[in-house]
Amino acid sequence: MEFQVGVIAGDGIGPEVVAEAQKVLNKVGEVFGHRFHYEAILMGGCSIDATGVPLTDEAIAAAKASDAVLMGSIGGNTQTSPWYQLPPQLRPEAGLLKLRKSLNLFANLRPAYLYEELKEACPLRDNIIGDGFDMMIMRELTGGLYFGERKTEEVDGVMTAVDTLTYNENEIRRIAKRGFDIAMKRRKKVTSVDKANVLDSSRLWRKVVEEVAKDYPEVTYEHMLVDNCAMQLVKNPGQFDVILTENMFGDILSDEASMVTGSIGMLSSASLNDTKFGLYEPSGGSAPDIAGKGIANPIATILSAAMMLRYSFDLDKEADAVEEAVRQVLKDGYRTIDIMPQKDKETVTQVGTAKMGDFICERIK
Ligand code: NAD
Repeated sequence: MEFQVGVIAGDGIGPEVVAEAQKVLNKVGEVFGHRFHYEAILMGGCSIDATGVPLTDEAIAAAKASDAVLMGSIGGNTQTSPWYQLPPQLRPEAGLLKLRKSLNLFANLRPAYLYEELKEACPLRDNIIGDGFDMMIMRELTGGLYFGERKTEEVDGVMTAVDTLTYNENEIRRIAKRGFDIAMKRRKKVTSVDKANVLDSSRLWRKVVEEVAKDYPEVTYEHMLVDNCAMQLVKNPGQFDVILTENMFGDILSDEASMVTGSIGMLSSASLNDTKFGLYEPSGGSAPDIAGKGIANPIATILSAAMMLRYSFDLDKEADAVEEAVRQVLKDGYRTIDIMPQKDKETVTQVGTAKMGDFICERIK
């Protein structure tokens, strides 16, 4: 099969890690008989330098014309880069917000997976880690408290701030469907997280999730209050498969879940709309402190490319092969600097960005 992939290399370590993900996609193409065509798209600081704005209309059109977009990361050192002297709407991050909005990316997916070999980086005790964990946080990204009306005003002589949390049933239904679809590709369990004992928006959330669940009889689902979920993530993370939740709860829980896995260089993510299209990017930033040194960990971007294979192209076998190659490379003892163990360093071999990409490619079967 042939696929059109928009590539936003971006700034800092972005181009370095994206190059490795493309290497991996090309290897997948070779082994499984597919062709990936790439179109470079400018966004972020590099777009400001070239065009004066962080995202042009042409760039949006190119992203829309792609089957999916693979992205590195954008932005620079926020203290020293001239990009941050510009008005907020012209800074690098404004490009990303505009792109997400233009593409209607309402579903954010962040996996939290604990590799046996990186257990040392997990802050939880061994008896809690057990056999490890492998969960997917599915966060609604374009509604809720962050997008509701807000104001700050004086009421009866007292400064008062109001933020509104609004969800309509359509917004809930589309994300719930996405969550159950993803569960069907995994271990078929959904934990829907809300605060239905207090919030009306959560009660509607729960009702709509129950309606959607009827269309997925193979998926087991449960409801969990957000405060309990925050506790369960550090008490028994192995119980979760897909955690489905609204914007603010997902913002907090996805960071909590990623912290228990260890390194930022391992964390992939995807943002989806209601077609097969998705934007795939590592969870970390452009890491200006290590850019250009050839030491960045490309695995988060490579795993994001694997998500693209699975969720935009329905190439599950190919995605499995990439994920297995990553597991194998860790098993074989190769580490980038960010995932080097604190002790017993002599048991592993430190490698740079390109070597890590090469070793993963070699293991794709
Ligand atoms: P960061 O994630 O770039 O870096 C935090 C720390 O993690 C640094 O020490 C960095 O070296 C390390 N790190 C990150 N990714 C790594 C990798 N793949 N391998 C090894 N180490 C890695 O966060 P920051 O320093 O706060 O932000 C830097 C820039 O990135 C800022 O301009 C910020 O706005 C931007 N940013 C962009 C995105 C995005 O493009 N989606 C996301 C977050 C931050």
